[in-house]
Amino acid sequence: MEKRELLYEGKAKKLFATDDPGLVIQYFKDDATAFDGTKKATIASKGVINNACSEIFFRLLEGHGVRTHFVERLDEREMLCRRLDIVPVEMIVRNVMAGSLARRLGRPEGDRLAAPIVEYCYKSDALHDPLINRWHVTVLGFATGAEIDTMTAMALRVNEILTPFLAARKLLLVDMKLEFGRFQGDILLGDEICPDTCRFWDADTGRKLDKDRFRHDLGDVAEAYHEVHRRLTSPA
Ligand code: 5GP
Repeated sequence: MEKRELLYEGKAKKLFATDDPGLVIQYFKDDATAFDGTKKATIASKGVINNACSEIFFRLLEGHGVRTHFVERLDEREMLCRRLDIVPVEMIVRNVMAGSLARRLGRPEGDRLAAPIVEYCYKSDALHDPLINRWHVTVLGFATGAEIDTMTAMALRVNEILTPFLAARKLLLVDMKLEFGRFQGDILLGDEICPDTCRFWDADTGRKLDKDRFRHDLGDVAEAYHEVHRRLTSPA
């Protein structure tokens, strides 16, 4: 398998073609951005940790029958993935009141939700990933009704699998952002699953161990990412 041209460069990752049209290489950078790219920094080894965490989660999910784009981790910063036609809808799954939901509804962060909440956002940096609903998704043609139903069921299944796995490692899965894409007629989970895309709180103290430390200048960002990786790789 040969690495070919750069297909796309995002804020945290680069995507390279390979000599196989069905496969791409996802390269994890140390660059961090927040608030639609207005805040920028480099977090030492972030790309290495996000690649390693994503591999752990994708393998766990595949083991539970959730189909993902993950093929194999090639090295510290590179992951071989199936090439998806990405659906331009970010799926947010929430277990605890936090972040934009807390702001939108004027609630304090921290209350456990009675059941998971799924939200959809239109993937557009220029528009700040606006919240949309199932009608927007289907009527505007971002995905079919069958596709959004499949993605919703898969997102809830991912939440069901990750929540106890993380709890066993003293991490509370507060919320997460998932992206899906089409591959040979199926919907696969894509992108990455890591402290950039999830909120992880220490189960005992509530300490934030994710990108919120960077977003809100809480300090010890790299240390928190390392701590998540350490817990994921320690016996439960
Ligand atoms: P919120 O809507 O509360 O800002 O985010 C909910 C969850 O989705 C959080 O775990 C957050 O990290 C993740 N999330 C939402 N949008 C984005 C995004 O554009 N980029 C990244 N990395 N994570 C996001």
